[in-house]
Amino acid sequence: MLKFSKYHSLRFLKVTSTKNIQCRKIHVFRSVPELRAFRRSLRNCDSSLGLVPTLGALHKGHLSLARAAANENSDVVISIYLNPAQFGVAEDLDKYPQTFDSDLQQLHALNQSFQDEGVPGRVTAVFAPDTKTMYPTLPPTSEVDGSGSFVTITPLGQILEGASRPVFFRGVATICMKLFNIVQAERVYFGQKDAQQSLLIKRLVKDFHLDTEVRVIPTEREADNLARSSRNVYLGQRRRIAATMLPDALRIAEMQYLHHGKLAKNEILTPAYKFLTLQQEHFENLPDKERVSTELDYLSIADPEDMHELVEVDPGKGAIISGALKMLPLQHSSSQESLEAGTELTRNVRLIDNIVLKPQY
Ligand code: AMP
Repeated sequence: MLKFSKYHSLRFLKVTSTKNIQCRKIHVFRSVPELRAFRRSLRNCDSSLGLVPTLGALHKGHLSLARAAANENSDVVISIYLNPAQFGVAEDLDKYPQTFDSDLQQLHALNQSFQDEGVPGRVTAVFAPDTKTMYPTLPPTSEVDGSGSFVTITPLGQILEGASRPVFFRGVATICMKLFNIVQAERVYFGQKDAQQSLLIKRLVKDFHLDTEVRVIPTEREADNLARSSRNVYLGQRRRIAATMLPDALRIAEMQYLHHGKLAKNEILTPAYKFLTLQQEHFENLPDKERVSTELDYLSIADPEDMHELVEVDPGKGAIISGALKMLPLQHSSSQESLEAGTELTRNVRLIDNIVLKPQY
């Protein structure tokens, strides 16, 4: 450990030329002391550190956060940890995709592209601890009334996503508090894709006086507008096609505000509800082998700072339109569909998405 620290202190002191920055490799740390030694070595030179917390199964959305971090910091740490505490008892923790080797390959390729494009920073470390490391005293619980050391943020953590997933934000706030304490990054990067989570993290940093800046990076989407998500691989082709009804509905709501000047909740959301209902009926009424059943969890138009539900948008402040849609298991799947790699046709796949309505003045 000490050797590592000394090596890096010397090495990073020399990081003044682009050539040296180009050479940096990605260290994989599993323990807190190792990560801390790395962090200390950075303090001895002219560097800054960005942290991108993830559950792994990296995709272009995660990589856009890493890119934003590398644009602002010399060093970027990506944490890859599938945090059990943010999954409810009946949720998909056991099936969540884990692709560590390919995650690492993607990060190496990303560093190469940074070098080619003149992006100043590099991903220099991956922090991939195990659960005993992250929860040293009691194992993490998924029970609402379970014991343990937790950070709770209310009421923000209890509404919308928090209402559907009661332990989710407690798990997120707790793991982020741990990661922020361990990594001590100057900046932390989160995705607008998880709008409520990003607000919760801002609140965590503000209320606990954490010494870091929170950056929120725009949502990366597929060509047909579906927000990228690690869980999209579960959908399979049939549900994947139907899944665009959520982003399409949000766009319809956005148009009411942007192009028709509507401010009232019902005038903005009703056309989106109507569209969604028609889409749901269409896919529900298809023949057995083509049918896709869905269940709308919520559509919301909320205050951009605390996510409380609005009756009317203040055009000087804007709003966040968000939605959650469950893609239900396929009742009649073809043998071809069952063979589709990575799909989980017998499980719900819950999609979330949002659009920010920007202030008009
Ligand atoms: P996750 O691994 O799903 O917890 O995501 C890790 C981080 O990546 C979170 O801050 C997410 O908001 C962000 N993220 C996930 N999907 C996207 C996306 N499509 N675009 C931008 N950021 C994303």
